[in-house]
Amino acid sequence: MDKEQKAIERIRLASEMSLGHYAQPLICTYSGGKDSDVMLELFKRSGIPFEVHNSHTTADAPQTVYHIRKIFRELELGGIKCDIDYHKQSDGSVRTMWNLIPKKLMPPWRRMRYCCSELKETGCANRMIATGVRWEESNKRKEREAFETNPPKIKDKIKVSDEKMLLTDNDDTRRLFEQCQLKAKTIVNPIIDWLDEDVWDFYWSECKYHNPLYEMGYMRVGCIGCPMAGKGRIKEFADFPKYKKAYISAFQRMLECRLQRGLTHKWKNGEEVFLWWMEDDTLSGQMSFIEFPEIMP
Ligand code: SF4
Repeated sequence: MDKEQKAIERIRLASEMSLGHYAQPLICTYSGGKDSDVMLELFKRSGIPFEVHNSHTTADAPQTVYHIRKIFRELELGGIKCDIDYHKQSDGSVRTMWNLIPKKLMPPWRRMRYCCSELKETGCANRMIATGVRWEESNKRKEREAFETNPPKIKDKIKVSDEKMLLTDNDDTRRLFEQCQLKAKTIVNPIIDWLDEDVWDFYWSECKYHNPLYEMGYMRVGCIGCPMAGKGRIKEFADFPKYKKAYISAFQRMLECRLQRGLTHKWKNGEEVFLWWMEDDTLSGQMSFIEFPEIMP
């Protein structure tokens, strides 16, 4: 079975599970990047009923936001339900990267990516979702599986082999997996075994629309200033200076909040925090939370 066909089979199996156990269509999560567009195209080819979900991070480049809107408009014209989570709170306020930083009292950090859990991995509770997670992306992702649950504790009760799930219909393993998932968010990662080159080839040859950021020299598209982008942030802030200003301003408010709580720090203003934050990946010894003694063990 080639990778495209295997991914489509995973999507079809997940769709069956979603309809059978949640009585709702499978959701394709969508971020506007190449992996998302590849997934979307595979979903279309699978012939299953599905919905599409995007979490608005508030730190995406304008090109990504427009790309998402364009894709969603076309999907909706084709009768596919699309949903964007703008993180509206019960008091009517909206959660953004810019108010989350002062609230969390520290910048988002490679090892403390609170923004992802609050702005990106939101919504779709008690539903089955598909993500574009791939083994090749990181060592941590190598531990992921094609079929998973969230929270992962449930998954720990039973080890599920992707091959077994795909090849053996209605066997005990599959039934047990499904029974364990009834109340959890269940996840399928259809392109988990795709290499970067597989994704790029499929993206340029098979996907109709492309995020313009790839033509501006970006290899990944995500939040501007994402700590996972490392040195790539230098180009991002040169191309999108308004986001630099927004981070500096959020860091300034973060310092004021820290002061109100009697928390110590060494910075005079938001600009100094920004400079320190940008050195994160370029100077050895900077990967430390020592600057935030209140969260040290
Ligand atoms: S900045 Fe990075 S870690 Fe934070 S929400 Fe965006 S992608 Fe996730």
